[in-house]
Amino acid sequence: MTTLLYSHPTCLEHDPGPHHPESPARLRAALAALDGPDFARLERREAPEAAFEDLFRVHSPRHVERTLGAVPRAGHVAIDADTVLSPASGAAALRAAGAVVAAVDAVVATEADNAFCAVRPPGHHAEPERSMGFCLFNNAAIGALRAREVHGLARVAVIDFDVHHGNGTQAAFENDARLFYASTHQYPLYPGTGASSERGVGNIVNVPLRPMSGSGPFRLAMTERILPALDAFRPELLVVSAGFDAHRDDPLAQLLLDEQDYSWVTERLLGIAARHAEGRFVATLEGGYDLAALGASVAAHVRVLMSA
Ligand SMILES: [Zn+2]
Repeated sequence: MTTLLYSHPTCLEHDPGPHHPESPARLRAALAALDGPDFARLERREAPEAAFEDLFRVHSPRHVERTLGAVPRAGHVAIDADTVLSPASGAAALRAAGAVVAAVDAVVATEADNAFCAVRPPGHHAEPERSMGFCLFNNAAIGALRAREVHGLARVAVIDFDVHHGNGTQAAFENDARLFYASTHQYPLYPGTGASSERGVGNIVNVPLRPMSGSGPFRLAMTERILPALDAFRPELLVVSAGFDAHRDDPLAQLLLDEQDYSWVTERLLGIAARHAEGRFVATLEGGYDLAALGASVAAHVRVLMSA
């Protein structure tokens, strides 16, 4: 059984400035957590840059051009209140999307059972026409559409357990019944979307959780709402927006999950992938802003992937 780990040094060079929570130290913490003897069997691969045609399945050429054109030669440029570009940001965003594309290709080609993409910037807030919320391109959606358009998979699902709602992925998927998006997230919280009434064409499942919800409500949301809907959808590939900012130690939100919850949900999702998708499962890092909690949570998640 093989688990792939995709990353690239350029993802460490995207620098939104001092005191920004989405710091290079996050990725260093995630990679350090995967460095011990437990993880020696991971097959480590360098993420390629995504091709424009991969981006264009989710984002318009105009949006891609505008985003990459905003990258400064020096210093920083803010494209909204919390999304800041540095000179390496464009290259990092292409590597982040390219990681998921390459992981999808490898898993579909049965080169491995599953894959984890340790990348930044994250992606799930990036809408087809708008970068926002630390995200430039929607890495998970780009990978999902690659699987469908290039590999011909009939149904692809993105499951998002980041503490924030993935408004970008929902916007990309909500009119397409052959794509499925489900999210648990704290509500109310940034970006303000993700009410349970937002159902797309019946292919969107949002389960908002109140601040201070912990393991019980999270697991109930999964077992009663998301996993049955996902099972009924019968995905041929699972892409997971793996954000770990619902951890109790995270400074950006107030959900009370811990590493055991991430192990648990990873096992459940792998079970659905095994049942419908020949195990095809690709996870990509989204949020997670307490460095110790992020490292421990990534380790818990990947340990389960390696035992699949
Ligand atoms: Zn988040």
